[in-house]
Amino acid sequence: MLDVLVIGGGNAALCAALTAREAGASVRLLESAPRAWRGGNSPHTRNIRCMHDAPQDVLTDAYPEEEFWQDLKKVTGGRTHEALARRVIRDSHHVRGWMQRHGVRFQPSLSGTLHLSRTNAFFMGGGKALVNAYYRSAEALGVEVRYQSPVQHVDLDDDGRFLAAVLDSGERVEARACVVASGGFESNRHWLREAWGRNERGEWPADAFLIRGTRYNLGVLLKDLLAQGCDAVGDATQAHMVAIDARAPLYDGGICTRVDAVSLGIMVNRDGRRFYDEGEDFWPKRYAIWGRLVAQQPGQVGHCIIDAKAVGRFMPPVFKGEEAGTLEQLARQLGLPEAAFIETVRAFNAACREGTFDHAVLDDCHTEGLAPAKTHWARPIDTPPFRGYTLKPGVTFTYLGLKVDEAAAVHRGDRPSPNLFAAGEVMAGNVLGQGYTAGVGMTIGTVFGRIAGASAAQAARATIGLAA
Ligand SMILES: Cc1cc2nc3c(=O)[nH]c(=O)nc-3n(C[C@H](O)[C@H](O)[C@H](O)COP(=O)(O)OP(=O)(O)OC[C@H]3O[C@@H](n4cnc5c(N)ncnc54)[C@H](O)[C@@H]3O)c2cc1C
Repeated sequence: MLDVLVIGGGNAALCAALTAREAGASVRLLESAPRAWRGGNSPHTRNIRCMHDAPQDVLTDAYPEEEFWQDLKKVTGGRTHEALARRVIRDSHHVRGWMQRHGVRFQPSLSGTLHLSRTNAFFMGGGKALVNAYYRSAEALGVEVRYQSPVQHVDLDDDGRFLAAVLDSGERVEARACVVASGGFESNRHWLREAWGRNERGEWPADAFLIRGTRYNLGVLLKDLLAQGCDAVGDATQAHMVAIDARAPLYDGGICTRVDAVSLGIMVNRDGRRFYDEGEDFWPKRYAIWGRLVAQQPGQVGHCIIDAKAVGRFMPPVFKGEEAGTLEQLARQLGLPEAAFIETVRAFNAACREGTFDHAVLDDCHTEGLAPAKTHWARPIDTPPFRGYTLKPGVTFTYLGLKVDEAAAVHRGDRPSPNLFAAGEVMAGNVLGQGYTAGVGMTIGTVFGRIAGASAAQAARATIGLAA
């Protein structure tokens, strides 16, 4: 019988498969996508957040455990499991050596709004190169990879023990242990609609959502396992959601649809009004809340407005925004109510208290007597040409997931399964109850992928021991 079955084909699944194989287990990986689209959201990624006490090749200075933990605690508002979070943080210290042994290469970050050179290691060639390297390594080590193999059901016994996976084709695959790494449910539009419901304006906000990554993360196994009584963590409306270029395609727009200028300007809604502090914190700690904020606005739309002073200070978006010599003209081009928009900019400009502008620190440029305030990097929007980008909510991944413990064992009735483990987005909600800090998705998937792979190999060995 097969030792370890891994369901999913992204970063977490590959880390689990490689680790289980290194531990001597026979491993099969089932990926629902065809080969050309393999890897789920992982090919879209660029970096991983890692703790370190001293400079480590591409990572500058130090990013100690406590600082990483405080960052996570702050962005999640405390909705995180400390023991699991600290495990993720501690293991991120040494995980890159293992990644390099499987062919992943790193490069330093660029400068700009991202502020990441200290905390995040960038993948040379992006997540696509990382995924390709892992598949190459997995195949070389003898992991059996099957594409176009969506699993629809996982068969458990009364003790939560994994028995077999049932594919859409009806095929039943038995194994001594299983790792579920099948992502979130962000591509399941029906489920998103149900979770977000109808708002007081009679809108179904989720109908306006774009999906930044794969179309294959439908949450089939998450739903299946929750229906079988596995314990849930998180809330179905919590997700990593970015406000992205409204012209993005429905799926797989990836990072080229990002607009990283929000903290340098103001954001207004369809009515031309501001609705949140654009300078609350560094962009990597805030970009993932703006999709949700825009989702709560009328028409689920936002417009990021900057002036010439901001140009050159953020990663230029791939697609040009609207540009105009006057704010009135910009309002017309963006379809905004002119008078309301001009009044918003006037009130904002009048409230700006300029100190020493420095986008690399939480500077002292802020507004006074304005609601909502802009607490950092507040400078009047007064220098033409003015630019505007129309943005819509872009879901990256959802946080509702399977409850796990430090061995990555899936819990049912608060008891760990002896041989069913979970890694990646499908359990990220244990660490991320809300909010996000850049690069932590890959940290969770890599660390828990490796834990789940090791646990599954051990569980398979234990089963053989029992049988013998
Ligand atoms: C545009 C974009 C940019 C991102 N950038 C970063 C970044 O720079 N750093 C970072 O840390 N995170 C980033 N993320 C988040 C990151 O992608 C995820 O945290 C991470 O890739 C999750 O890995 P995973 O293996 O859990 O899921 P995925 O990589 O999504 O893999 C899930 C896999 O499961 C398969 N699958 C789904 N259902 C089934 C089924 N029923 N049967 C079989 N297979 C199934 C899918 O086809 C897919 O292969 C980004 C995401 C996006 C969309």
